Amino acid sequence: MATVPEYFGSLVFDDRVMKAQLSANVYKSLKKTIDQGVPLDLSVANAVAAAMKDWAVANGATHYTHWFQPLTGITAEKHDSFITPSPDGRVIMEFSGKELIKGEPDASSFPSGGLRATFEARGYTAWDPTSYAFIKGKTLCIPTAFCSYGGEALDKKTPLLRSMEALSRQAIRILRLFGNTRVKCVRTSVGPEQEYFLVDKEMYDQRKDLIYTGRTLFGAKAPKGQEMDDHYFGVIKPRVAAYMADLNEELWKLGILAKTEHNEVAPAQHELAPIYQTTNIATDHNQLTMEMMQKVAARHGLVCLLHEKPFAGVNGSGKHNNWSITTDTGVNLLTPGETPHENAQFLLFLCAVIKAVDDYQDLLRLAVATAGNDHRLGANEAPPAVVSIFLGDELTDILEAIETDTPYNAAEKTTMKLGVDVLPKFPRDTTDRNRTSPFAFTGNKFEFRMLGSSNSIACANIMLNSAVAESLKIYADRLENATDFETALHAMIKKTIKDHKRIIFNGNGYDDAWIQEAERRGLLNYRTTPDCMPHLLDEKNVKMLTRHNVYSPAELQSRCEIMLDNYCKTVIIEANTMVDMARRQILPAVESYASDLASSASAKKAIVPEIACGYETKLVKKLSVLIDQISMRADDLEEAVLALKDCSSIERESYQIRDTILPLMSSLRAVADEAETMTAEKYWPFPTYGELLFGVR
Ligand code: ADP
Ligand code: MG
Repeated sequence: MATVPEYFGSLVFDDRVMKAQLSANVYKSLKKTIDQGVPLDLSVANAVAAAMKDWAVANGATHYTHWFQPLTGITAEKHDSFITPSPDGRVIMEFSGKELIKGEPDASSFPSGGLRATFEARGYTAWDPTSYAFIKGKTLCIPTAFCSYGGEALDKKTPLLRSMEALSRQAIRILRLFGNTRVKCVRTSVGPEQEYFLVDKEMYDQRKDLIYTGRTLFGAKAPKGQEMDDHYFGVIKPRVAAYMADLNEELWKLGILAKTEHNEVAPAQHELAPIYQTTNIATDHNQLTMEMMQKVAARHGLVCLLHEKPFAGVNGSGKHNNWSITTDTGVNLLTPGETPHENAQFLLFLCAVIKAVDDYQDLLRLAVATAGNDHRLGANEAPPAVVSIFLGDELTDILEAIETDTPYNAAEKTTMKLGVDVLPKFPRDTTDRNRTSPFAFTGNKFEFRMLGSSNSIACANIMLNSAVAESLKIYADRLENATDFETALHAMIKKTIKDHKRIIFNGNGYDDAWIQEAERRGLLNYRTTPDCMPHLLDEKNVKMLTRHNVYSPAELQSRCEIMLDNYCKTVIIEANTMVDMARRQILPAVESYASDLASSASAKKAIVPEIACGYETKLVKKLSVLIDQISMRADDLEEAVLALKDCSSIERESYQIRDTILPLMSSLRAVADEAETMTAEKYWPFPTYGELLFGVR
């Protein structure tokens, strides 16, 4: 059997393969395109395409696809085979440079939020040469961006690449001010930790809610949940271990650096973390990881649930976005340095992030907003919906010392002056690992913890990169015109701390007292998707995102619409599924149990007339009341869903869903779950929480 280093990346057309398969000249041109974005000419593209095809065919591929990330949140592909008829009536395998560079999938079934109406019905895909092509099954997949003919982005990758460019541009201006003339490009890196649940496939197949919506819409609490904390980091069960081993192998073949795996807090919950990568590659890899997680699960008789809240009453799943900024010379700009000069630079980048997070709390919040994630944020298991930054006490004290011109600690008599003092050493990877903060500094990177498990990481990183680019731009504009760089720098850092310290919070983010405190500080608290999404179109946000060419105004308009539409559709499907399950599964089950109880009581009475049948009578009464309530609440919910069609806009509809549909869903669930606790097991029409959560052994 091949060892891991032998098969790692075996399905990827990576640098090693390129070097081996391309002529020196072609390789050099391609490298220039990858590293510096220089456009490829057609002869080079033809040579690359031919080499890719030969390599793919040798590895068993028959088809190719442009692989892209439309606004549905998942990936899309349309397979074409390599076959081309040859004059002798047989076929040859062909793939041209044109086919590599550009594809024209029919865009009409992808959400465009009105962009297509204003532009053209067709879209095109364009090769992203910075993300390697790979083989999946029998198909060569070529990572691409997806745009309309007018050039408007219809995907998540295009704005992500634009945001990375924007950040690079501004960061280089700052580095130049610090005398760095070598750096040509600055990139952000991301390591996304992915949480997920595994349930048994046979049980899954019996639950319409899981099938249609990815989460349970009914289900009484199991006698045991996560209260013993015996699952977190616990021994991994054999079936799960076999799954993880198989998954790792698949991911490694795809060149994905799957590194860490462990059990999570809730029963049946697990986590996988890769080693960090450049952000656009990390995004592609995370999408592939989610896809492989589901594919491999099927082979093991399991289903992988990526929903943010598959089970009420136990923790949901998130995704931690570990983010840092690195130069092409390998320097992490979020690492405190050794010299005063390095430290001043570090503090500037740190301040840029602090300012960005405070100024664009709303964009960070809405980048992670989905119907699914609304169940998590602020539910005492995930960060609150309020965005704040954890810096740790030490760094906070340092900033305070700078702000107030006071000594950093009592022993030192001098005040901190940037460019003169070396920062006191503070531990990297600080031990006080605050797990409740939405945005935590962890020594040399920030960990943004609000993402939902099914979110594409693209959106969060687009907003983060853009907001930080904006801070850096403001800094660079000021510093480039300063007469005395050091004084201006010091003043600016001081001002940032003063203006934005309200966003720093080192305490317990799960505490209700924090929410009140956050309100006093004037921080935003958008609890739901309809609350935050419309702010995408606030003037300050549109100005910033268009200034850096990350989005056009039309793209923003369309995205806002699509995200709200997505929210509405998701909840409507859930509501319809509930009505269906209530009427066709739950009511018949409870009814049949109640009627069996009633018959058994009358049968008993026929034999022993003086018997009271207290048990049956009481239970039949209770069940009958519940039956009526379930039925009435299902009717109400159905009616409320029908009434949505009168909403005049998608925004209105989303408010109505938040205020009417979701509460009706909860009230229907409450009575159905109560009925479950009183109905004999063998009558219950689908697997219970206990079975689902503890069923994989
Ligand atoms: P924890 O669970 O304690 O947060 P993990 O080790 O599970 O930590 O995950 C940390 C993640 O952060 C990994 O994906 C890791 O590759 C990533 N990471 C580490 N250093 C950096 C960095 N400089 N930039 C971005 N991500 C990083
Ligand atoms: Mg983490």
